Amino acid sequence: MMRGVRAVWVGVALLTGCAREVPVPAPQPIIDMHLHAFAYDAYGLPAPPNEVTGNVPHFGSDTSAMRATFDTLRLYHVVRAVASGPLADVRRWRAANPTVIMGGAYTGPRDTLLAVTTLEQLFADGELKVLGELGLQYRGLSPSAPELTPYWALAAARKIPVAVHTGLGDAGTPFDCCPNFRARLGNPLLLEDVLVAHPGLRVNVMHAGYPFLAETKALLTIYPEVYVDIGVLSWAIPRAEFYAYLKALIDAGFANRVMFGSDQMVWPEAIGMAIAGITEAPFLTPAQRQAIFYDNAARFLRLTPAEIARDHAAVR
Ligand SMILES: [Zn+2]
Repeated sequence: MMRGVRAVWVGVALLTGCAREVPVPAPQPIIDMHLHAFAYDAYGLPAPPNEVTGNVPHFGSDTSAMRATFDTLRLYHVVRAVASGPLADVRRWRAANPTVIMGGAYTGPRDTLLAVTTLEQLFADGELKVLGELGLQYRGLSPSAPELTPYWALAAARKIPVAVHTGLGDAGTPFDCCPNFRARLGNPLLLEDVLVAHPGLRVNVMHAGYPFLAETKALLTIYPEVYVDIGVLSWAIPRAEFYAYLKALIDAGFANRVMFGSDQMVWPEAIGMAIAGITEAPFLTPAQRQAIFYDNAARFLRLTPAEIARDHAAVR
């Protein structure tokens, strides 16, 4: 499933036998707001198969798994990617690819969040750019839990963008990794009190709050600093379900608040699959596609005009 934007269009042309009429768009830069820097054996050895393709990753080292992800990012013109994971992995990825990889502070099923003072220094040094992915749900935490207040305060004071896992997890999660996991803790409206307490806090509602559509629309309506990413949705849930959800957000007027994210974990092929989910969406206009792939994330991340020019030049 290594299909890029260009390859998909060419493929359509070949299938329909009208290659001359089907435009091959110029490569466009993509920002992946939801990538993970994990060790090659983070999910065990052998790694579990990609649930969609059944393919089992066969990397024999951290370096080969990382390089495969970088090669895939380059193939699809992903010019920046927010990669979160254990700090040692994020540092390893950034050292190997500093122009593309932006560090994310991570907490998930097995990883606790670093101390506020440690994070403050990492953000000051530029090692981290985004406070997330925060998998609070996996740890049984609501975003409004008192112990998280210092983290939100840090993000607000230093204008650090935040990225919070919302929505769902794998089937049986409370009986597997995470006894405190609850589906109800994925409700994006649990972020509301945090947003009110810290005006201006920029939050990426990861996984677009799926399947809490009404709650996600409510949050997007009331809080202009809230964006969403489509991590995992565009390649791992049924395509019709993803398109219904995405179209509902677009129809509600939020085409400028949806950001591309792959949520690639240990399957680099997921990046191309995630991109195809947007490229092939029949209801998106070219302008909406570009907004989702790049413009919205550039705005959310406050990229400078020079940085944006660099990204466009990188794919020419
Ligand atoms: Zn997540």
